[in-house]
Amino acid sequence: MSKGTINVSVDNIFPLIKKFLYSDHEIFLRELISNATDATLKMKHLANIGEAEGVEYGDPTIEVKLDKKKKELRIIDQGIGMTKDEVERYINEIAFSGAEEFIEKYKDKDGKDAGIIGHFGLGFYSAFMVAKKVEIITKSYKDEPAVHWSCDGSPEFTIEKAKKKEHGTEIILHIADDSTEFLEESRISELLVKYNKFMPIPIKFGTRTETLPKPEGAKEEDKAPTKEVDNIINNPNPAWTKLPTELEDKDYNSFYRELYPMQFEEPLFHIHLNVDYPFNLTGILYFPKMTNDMSIQKDKIQLYQNQVFVTDNVEGIVPEFLTMLRGVIDSPDIPLNVSRSYLQADGAVKKISSYITRKVADKLKSLFNSDREGFEKKWNDIKIVIEYGMLTEDKFFEKAQDFALYPTVDNNYYTLSELKEKIKDSQTDKDGNIVILYASNKEEQHSYIEATKEKGYEVLLLDSPIITHLLQKVESSEEKISFVRVDSDHVENLIKKDEEQISKLSDEEKESLKTFLDGIIPKEKFSVQLEALDSKANPFIITEPEFMRRMKDMQKTGGGGMFGMGGFPEMYNLIVNTNHELVSEILHTKTDKKKERLVNQALDLARLSKNLLKGEELTAFIKRSYEMIK
Ligand code: ADP
Repeated sequence: MSKGTINVSVDNIFPLIKKFLYSDHEIFLRELISNATDATLKMKHLANIGEAEGVEYGDPTIEVKLDKKKKELRIIDQGIGMTKDEVERYINEIAFSGAEEFIEKYKDKDGKDAGIIGHFGLGFYSAFMVAKKVEIITKSYKDEPAVHWSCDGSPEFTIEKAKKKEHGTEIILHIADDSTEFLEESRISELLVKYNKFMPIPIKFGTRTETLPKPEGAKEEDKAPTKEVDNIINNPNPAWTKLPTELEDKDYNSFYRELYPMQFEEPLFHIHLNVDYPFNLTGILYFPKMTNDMSIQKDKIQLYQNQVFVTDNVEGIVPEFLTMLRGVIDSPDIPLNVSRSYLQADGAVKKISSYITRKVADKLKSLFNSDREGFEKKWNDIKIVIEYGMLTEDKFFEKAQDFALYPTVDNNYYTLSELKEKIKDSQTDKDGNIVILYASNKEEQHSYIEATKEKGYEVLLLDSPIITHLLQKVESSEEKISFVRVDSDHVENLIKKDEEQISKLSDEEKESLKTFLDGIIPKEKFSVQLEALDSKANPFIITEPEFMRRMKDMQKTGGGGMFGMGGFPEMYNLIVNTNHELVSEILHTKTDKKKERLVNQALDLARLSKNLLKGEELTAFIKRSYEMIK
């Protein structure tokens, strides 16, 4: 037996390891299994190229073994193993310098950000986060004796010969008293599923009981025979490591289930990512059914590095709008030892992000082209991602012109250029602008929608929470178009044309009506405008100018408020149709009291059709209405 001191300048590195990795002790298992996997894959490679004479590669597994009584956790592989020389080099020196470097790097950081995925590379020594003593029993595939290395957490270690016959490595962790959670079977299971579910070498953790088919001639009441089999916790060949040509839709769907066992809805469609130049990346993204509530997203995209789970926080790597999707991304080229702000500035990561954006756009376009009807049916479930992408990524905005849809209230779907073509004759105003009319809620804006449709105009239904922001962007990117909501003005004014309006009332009559109305209608809420509309149009109509409403909407959904927080006045226009019979009646009613009753009743009806009549005022209106029909 020989003794030595681990070659390290920091006096006692273990307390430091514990301290800096405090929040994430559990990653030790991932690190050790990654090492075991690497060693096994190296063995496979050597066997394949005929470098390992007399050594069988066979069908190796990695075994994780728990002994609660002895407080031991073992990780056993059948990989290339290490010679004494290699243990000294890799474990005593090199690995340690890695740890030292790591600590140097993160010493000054308060660390949360760096902490999340910054742990890669600490490797073997992360075992000391949970163990008071670590042993390695290893035998190289080379014809050299096995080695037993042992270290109790001080910078001193012992190394001696061991009896192990087969090549491979066994790591024995003597779990520390403050880490006994890692002696619980359920905790280890949980970690294996979290980090190692898709690692490339089968990982065994205990056994499980398998039910076999009943033998022929067995009776109904006979129990089916059972057998104890290895409990393999991972799927070493997950779908994303295969080629798209090897997979069918059902394979993608069953992989989705494997990723998100708690998801019962099928994904709408998937995108298989596969590049090897200028960076390596594979993965599968799924479009789940989306609700309008952007904040709900429980199951996130998972990031892997060579089939090892890293994180499900892909912010910075995937453009923000795509973080609403689900699936996996696997890339050895994403730097993991850096903070997120660095990640966002990293050239390779930027390329990855724009590649993913492009792939998503291409997929959407091909779905649109190959099955337009199907695409239209899915539109409501995917629009939020697409619209958000259009708003935030200029490249995506450009590409989306080909497949972004504008549905009408009657469920016809147009692209913007189709829509423009369809409405340009009837909906161009006197200044040559194409005016696109829309509603945001079919029920609440019903009377406005009906009036607009009667004019022969198309009305879109645009109801995403971010639509106002997007419309601003579309307007500024296109020449001569504007979007106007149906309740922003009376129908004659939505699209301003050079048409003479003829009023039934004389100027004096208008004057006297205006004076009377101004006297009873609250000025701070409504600005009264007399208009000579179609006599069949409603007598009183409440509208809210497009600009004001948009500012309000945008303030609600973030950004764009020129009145500061919550400072928008509740101000509407009250359009009075001077050609309507009721308005003439108001004018010619003799007693002021009766006149006032008519005005108030008409005003309340207008408010009702814009959903503005609520609470006490609604109660009063109903009471008054009953009295009127008595
Ligand atoms: P890293 O894996 O990042 O290189 P580690 O500290 O985890 O750093 O490991 C240092 C080295 O020790 C590895 O590069 C490898 O050569 C060797 N090693 C660690 N674990 C094993 C193992 N299970 N089998 C064979 N070699 C191993």
